[in-house]
Amino acid sequence: MNMINTNLPTAELQKLDAAHHFHPFTDNSALGKKGARVMVRGEGVWLTDSEGHRILDAMAGLWCVNIGYGRKELAQVAARQMEELPYYNTFFQTTHVPAIALAAKLAELAPGDLNHVFFAASGSEANDTNIRLVRRYWQAKGKPWRRTILARWNGYHGSTLGGGSLGGMKGIHAHGGKIDGIEHIEQPDWWSEGGDMSPEEFGLARARQLEEKILEVGPDNVAAFIGEAVQGAGGVIIPPSTYWPEIQRICQKYGVLLILDEVITGFGRTGNWFAAQTFNIKPDIITIAKGLSSGYQPIGGSILSDEVAAVVGGDEFNHGYTYSGHPVAAAVALENLRIMQDEGIVEHVRDVANPYLAKRWAELADHPLVGEAKLVGLMGSIALTPNKATRAAFTSETGTVGFRCRERCFANDLIMRHVGDRMIISPPLCITPAEIDVLIERARKSLDECYAGLQADGLMVAK
Ligand SMILES: *Cc1c(COP(=O)(O)O)cnc(C)c1O
Repeated sequence: MNMINTNLPTAELQKLDAAHHFHPFTDNSALGKKGARVMVRGEGVWLTDSEGHRILDAMAGLWCVNIGYGRKELAQVAARQMEELPYYNTFFQTTHVPAIALAAKLAELAPGDLNHVFFAASGSEANDTNIRLVRRYWQAKGKPWRRTILARWNGYHGSTLGGGSLGGMKGIHAHGGKIDGIEHIEQPDWWSEGGDMSPEEFGLARARQLEEKILEVGPDNVAAFIGEAVQGAGGVIIPPSTYWPEIQRICQKYGVLLILDEVITGFGRTGNWFAAQTFNIKPDIITIAKGLSSGYQPIGGSILSDEVAAVVGGDEFNHGYTYSGHPVAAAVALENLRIMQDEGIVEHVRDVANPYLAKRWAELADHPLVGEAKLVGLMGSIALTPNKATRAAFTSETGTVGFRCRERCFANDLIMRHVGDRMIISPPLCITPAEIDVLIERARKSLDECYAGLQADGLMVAK
């Protein structure tokens, strides 16, 4: 017997949702009045809601449904694994086949000497693990005072207390505080903060803030630096080409461990298995989640270099989760990776979807509301502006225009998200050129409608 009555009318579902379901990252009282959109089905890049709208999901859920919705193979693998061994832990000198096979597969796919996987159930948990890992690493090396972790303003590393502290979202810090020993430098967002510098000069300047911060904190106090290869939740900020090589150089110079948060960029998003390959970065630890299972099961982890694993693994590591390496999640992740490999999904991104989307996305820069249109692999952003030449911000409160644009997208059955006054996409990696055409057509229509509304309301005004 099905416990859920899926035939309830939308208004009834919304009422129950408002009464009992407290949503994450949401003004719950405002949503309760308006009613949440109820999603009921997914197929490829398409979602269907309870009113029967066919929506193009240009965000792949929360950047995670890399192979697309509705892949029955994953459901079948999950059912088989649940019948065989639904759960066992990996704490007390035990293991199981899905965790072994997935760890070995990840070691094969990850670049360089990243050969050891510590499993978590999410990206936030994995980054909490990373805090312990790097601090334990320096303890084990006889330098327990080396514990400060450097990160970036407007970075996102999850929303547990540890992940939220690594992140540089002030709104998150404001709700419950942040843990000690984490310091932030500024982000490489040339569009908003680059002033008169060229993007290349600006990339170097922002990377060199890492060196300044290391010297300020004291090189012998710094455990690690963490950054997303491309900031996702911060607005798809693709760093200038000079940025990562300089960050890498500085980390090496001071022996600071480099944690690359690939929760979004991992598993094909940038046209390689990992963005470490796209940007030629050599991290000591990579954070993974989201696309690892295409979101079909909650699973994440940290992939460690031989050296980090040897140092931390030389003694007991007092850390772990009940669901570390959960067999059902691990089996589903493995099947997801098998499909990605067998169907050449990373190659599809690199050779088909990215080149075509790059061309079509760049066309949006002609629009009177759009300043720049940027894309790497299949993650893109457009900056909305009242003045392209000066890269001006709007006089209205940041996010007002972006929110209005997102509302137009929703009305046109396109899920595109806004971060401040940037619009962002991260579609399923299986998206076809014909579906990219629909995405662009709906995006342009939404931009047109947003622009008309802004003009009517006198909001096309530069700060
Ligand atoms: C989503 C995200 C996280 C957090 O992952 P959860 O599974 O939501 O805990 C961490 N880092 C980055 C870069 C993310 O985008």
